[in-house]
Amino acid sequence: MAQSAPLLLRVVASSVTVAGRAGKIIRDVMTGGELNIVNKGKNDPQTEADRSAQRCIVASLSRQFPNVAIIGEEGPSNCEVPSDWVVTDSDQQVLGVRLPQDLEEVEDKDLCIWVDPLDGTSEYAQGLVEHVTVLIGVAVREKAVGGIIHQPYYKNPEDGSLGRTLWGIDGVATGGLQLIPPPEGKRIVTTTRSHSDVTVQSALDALEADEILKVGGAGHKVMLLLEGKAHAYVFASAGCKRWDTCAPEAILRAFGGTLTDIHGECYSYNAETSHPNTRGVLATAPGQQHAWYLKKIPDEIKQRLA
Ligand code: AMP
Ligand code: MG
Ligand code: MG
Repeated sequence: MAQSAPLLLRVVASSVTVAGRAGKIIRDVMTGGELNIVNKGKNDPQTEADRSAQRCIVASLSRQFPNVAIIGEEGPSNCEVPSDWVVTDSDQQVLGVRLPQDLEEVEDKDLCIWVDPLDGTSEYAQGLVEHVTVLIGVAVREKAVGGIIHQPYYKNPEDGSLGRTLWGIDGVATGGLQLIPPPEGKRIVTTTRSHSDVTVQSALDALEADEILKVGGAGHKVMLLLEGKAHAYVFASAGCKRWDTCAPEAILRAFGGTLTDIHGECYSYNAETSHPNTRGVLATAPGQQHAWYLKKIPDEIKQRLA
C-alpha cells in the first residue's frame, strides 16, 4: 500500500512519524540533563538534542528516500544511529490524501527536505520547552509545499500525554489542528525573543500593534498564527534560515495564511538555494491582510534587508 502512494505523500507521511520520534529524543535529552551545549556562532547554540534529533530524522528519511536531497540545520549527519532511532512507518491519514496530478508526478530530483531538528534552541536551553518545535519542510522544486510541525511538549488535553504533530500540503490538505482565527479589532504581532536588534524593533514600532508576543522559534510563532493567538509574525532580520521557514510556510499556506520575506517575495527552497533568509520574515494568519503589513514596514528597513 505505502509503496503505491505518490512519492510526495510518502515523504510527508514518513516525516510526520519521524518528527514524533525526534520529539521523544528531545524530551529524553532534557530529562537526562546533559545538554552538552556547543556555540555555532553568536547567540546560536546547539545541544545534544539538536544533534540527536537531526541524526534520527536524516537516518530515517535517507534510508527510505536515498535519492531525495535532505538539508539539515546541523550539517551532514553521521547516519550510524541507534536502531530504535530509525523509524520507517508512515502516517496513514497522509497516505490517504488525493493529490492533484502535478504533485502526484513529482520525482526524487524535484524534492528537497529541509530539517530543523529543534527550532527554538535558545529557549530549550533555558527550560522554556513549550517554544520548541521539530520542523520538516518538503519543497517541490523551488516551492515550500509540504510541512510538518511537531511540538514535543504540547500536553494533550484528553490524556495528558506529550507531543502533537500538524502537517499540511499546500492547496491539498491539512491535519492535526483545528484552525482558530485571531481576535477581530485588535492587532497582535509575534516576534523573536532572543534575536532582536534595532531594525527588528523599528519594524515592530511601525506596525503600532496592540500587543507584541516575544517568543522563541519560527515554528512556534507560526503555531500562534494558526491557534488564533497572533495576527502576524514579523522579523526584520537576516537571522532565519531556509530550514526555519520551509515547513512553517507550507503549513501556513495550506491553512490559508501567507509567509514571505519583508518585500512580499517567497523564498526559494530548491536544494541549490542559499540558506540564510536575508530579507527577513513576514507571516500572516489566515484571513489577515498580508499586503497591509508589507505596506506598513518602512522603505528604509526594506532597504536594509534588500
Ligand atoms: P527566533 O525567533 O529568535 O527564535 O528565531 C527563529 C529561528 O531563526 C531560530 O531557529 C533561530 O535560531 C534562528 N535565528 C534568528 N536570528 C538568528 C541569529 N541572529 N543568529 C542565529 N540564528 C538566528
Ligand atoms: Mg530554527
Ligand atoms: Mg534548530
